[in-house]
Amino acid sequence: MLRVTNCIRLKSRNFTKIVNSNTRYLATQAAVKNVSEEKEEKNVAESKSQSFVRNIFLGQLETSQIFPYPDVLNEEQYDTLKLFIDPVERFFEKVNDPMKNDENASIDEKTSQAMWELGAFCLQVPQKYGGMELTNTQYSRCVEICGYHDLGISIILGAHQSIGFKGILLYGTPEQKEKYLPRVCNGEYAAFCLTEPSCGSDAGSVRSRAIKSADGSHYILNGNKIWISNGGLAEIMTVFAQVPMKDPKTGETKDKVTAFIVERSFGGVTSGPPEKKMGIKCSNTAEVYFENVKIPAENVIKGEGQGFSVAMNVLNSGRFGMASALSGTMRYCIKKAVEHATQRVQFGRTIDYYGSIQEKLGRMAMLHYVTESLAYLIAGNMDSGSQDYYLEAAVSKVKLFKNIKFNNLFILLFQNNRFSVLHRNPHGWFVTKLFKYLVEWDI
Ligand SMILES: Cc1cc2nc3c(=O)[nH]c(=O)nc-3n(C[C@H](O)[C@H](O)[C@H](O)COP(=O)(O)OP(=O)(O)OC[C@H]3O[C@@H](n4cnc5c(N)ncnc54)[C@H](O)[C@@H]3O)c2cc1C
Repeated sequence: MLRVTNCIRLKSRNFTKIVNSNTRYLATQAAVKNVSEEKEEKNVAESKSQSFVRNIFLGQLETSQIFPYPDVLNEEQYDTLKLFIDPVERFFEKVNDPMKNDENASIDEKTSQAMWELGAFCLQVPQKYGGMELTNTQYSRCVEICGYHDLGISIILGAHQSIGFKGILLYGTPEQKEKYLPRVCNGEYAAFCLTEPSCGSDAGSVRSRAIKSADGSHYILNGNKIWISNGGLAEIMTVFAQVPMKDPKTGETKDKVTAFIVERSFGGVTSGPPEKKMGIKCSNTAEVYFENVKIPAENVIKGEGQGFSVAMNVLNSGRFGMASALSGTMRYCIKKAVEHATQRVQFGRTIDYYGSIQEKLGRMAMLHYVTESLAYLIAGNMDSGSQDYYLEAAVSKVKLFKNIKFNNLFILLFQNNRFSVLHRNPHGWFVTKLFKYLVEWDI
């Protein structure tokens, strides 16, 4: 299969020109900053942020980022996007088998090979490193298609590029980018290793430690990570660990979180068996252990002690993709619900005739509309150069996990058929997770 990038290079003569001349459209541009720029931007954000949500918290109505709704793609970028959509759809229809992936709790070689060839693992990497260089809006559209067809695949792709190597993309030195980005575009999986048994939401509390050698040439890393997506597959990992650092003012030594690029081939990196999950089963989630791993000093991302900021910015900048993926999943559920409602006959009529069923479908469509609107709003604002999109991204994530109402409606619509529908649903987790809540709380 011909990688889509090649087609785009041929078809879209001006693509690179447009991307280069219009840097605000660059996918990752919104978050790439040096420290002094960051400070300046923080001040700007605090003084006159355009963020709708931030301003609501400040008691002000600032609507410039939501009215008119952002429409950031130019004609060329729309054409480029259209070129991607067909091969991605074809992959899901002809190559990928979501039920098989779910049953095997993994994807087979043919499927992963097709995804690598498609360029699905490097959607936002600059073309000079072998990636597709999509904007956030274009990325959202591709991710939405993945979420529609197979949410497990979305997790594999998201863990790899939304968080796995995102730190290198955002903050990597030219040398780090040169060395690692072509590899993560060409068959080597990436993972983001933050969570530990005692460290969940409180990202600053990691216990893994990396000690710098006396000659400053390398670090020795020890620690355990849990719940790592692609943890059993990844060759290249962004790992967060405490590094003891001397405060130049006080002379006191304190641990500070630092981000490292770690290769499995450094030695001392092992992983546990895949977690058995309720859904998104084909995505590999595993524990990863680091035992006396020797990391070259040049593999620190953004400098010693900057790990917390790297982790937060990676998570923030990757968050919008989740809304897009789940928007696709919701669209799939609505399609299934409509198919059922227009075929199931009760009291002599298909059940879509009845008002309560129509209301359920209407409400599902409304909730989907909200999710999709949030996804493209954030992506559009990021593409327009907004640096202050974190609260909007957080809102989209909270909204997603509060979509229990959508699942209530979906499940109630199917009634007794819910069990077989859930069983046959490639997004099992999305509905089963919320179905579990229903069982526990509602029924
Ligand atoms: C399928 C899957 C894949 C994952 N992939 C990765 C990965 O690739 N890399 C990685 O590093 N991690 C990964 N994780 C881990 C995930 O990011 C963590 O589960 C997450 O950080 C939450 O941590 P926790 O589960 O320990 O919850 P906790 O932090 O223990 O939180 C428990 C509950 O308390 C609430 N809570 C916590 N603090 C507060 C507070 N201050 N105020 C109010 N409420 C609070 C939380 O919202 C939550 O409801 C994955 C997890 C899953 C399930």
